[in-house]
Amino acid sequence: MTAYPKSTGKKLGLVIDLDICVGCHACATSCKEWNTGGYSAPLSDYDPYGADPHGTWLNRVHGYEAGEGQDSQTVHFPRSCLHCEEPACVSVCPTGASYKREEDGIVLVNPDTCIGCKLCSWACPYGAREYDHDEGVMKKCTLCVDRIYNETIPQLDRIPACVRACPTGARHFGDFGDPGSYISKMVRERGGYDLMPEMGYKPVNKYLPPRPPKDGKDKTAALPPLKAAKRRKGSAKGKRPASEKFFAWADLLLSR
Ligand code: SF4
Repeated sequence: MTAYPKSTGKKLGLVIDLDICVGCHACATSCKEWNTGGYSAPLSDYDPYGADPHGTWLNRVHGYEAGEGQDSQTVHFPRSCLHCEEPACVSVCPTGASYKREEDGIVLVNPDTCIGCKLCSWACPYGAREYDHDEGVMKKCTLCVDRIYNETIPQLDRIPACVRACPTGARHFGDFGDPGSYISKMVRERGGYDLMPEMGYKPVNKYLPPRPPKDGKDKTAALPPLKAAKRRKGSAKGKRPASEKFFAWADLLLSR
C-alpha cells in the first residue's frame, strides 16, 4: 500500500557481534534515554517501579542458551529494526506513515500520520515494532536519525546511542552501500549473516556469529577471521558450519 525506493543513496545500518555481546543492556538503556527525548519521544513506561514494569523500547536484548551439554553457549541477542531494503512494514502501511528514506535507507514512522492500526507489526517478521499505548502510534529504531546528522553535538557522538554506549565494542555503525566501508569488510571477514533471508525483505543490519570455543578441537580458532572462515569451509565437507547452525537456531526462535 506504501511504496519504498527501489534503491537508496546509502544503506546505513548496524553490525552486531554476537561473539562479544555480554548482554549488559547498555545499548538498550542508552537507546531508551536518547529516544525518550528525541525523534520518537516520549517512550511510554507502565508500572516502572512496580511488580510488572513494561513499556516501549526500541532495542531489546534477549539471553538464550543455544545447544546442549558441552556444545552449549550463552548467547545475548540484541533485537531492533533491521532497516530492510524491501521492508514489509512499509509496503503494508495504509497511510504512508511508515517510509524508507531514499537518501540513506533509514526506515521511519511519521507519528502525525500513523493511525496505530498495527499492520506493520504484524508484517515485520523480526518483532521490531513497538506500539506506544499512551501515544496510540507505532515506534521503532530510528538509527538515531536525530544524532547521526546532529551538528550541535561532537563528531564522536554522531553515531547511534546504542553503538556509542556499548562497553565491549559489539556494535558498529556505517554504510553497507559502500563495499569498502569498515563494516562491509567486517561482515565479509567474519561471515556476517542476514536474519531470516528466506523472508526476502533483505535486512540491512547484519549479525556476526559467535566464534567456536577455543578448546583445542577447533584448529582455526587462532587464525585471522577470514582465513579461519575459509579453512572451516574447506574442511566442513558437507557439515554445516557452526555459524550456520547458530543462525538456523536464531531463525527458528524469531519465527515462533
Ligand atoms: Fe520494517 Fe521490521 Fe524490516 Fe524494520 S525489521 S524495516 S520494522 S520489516
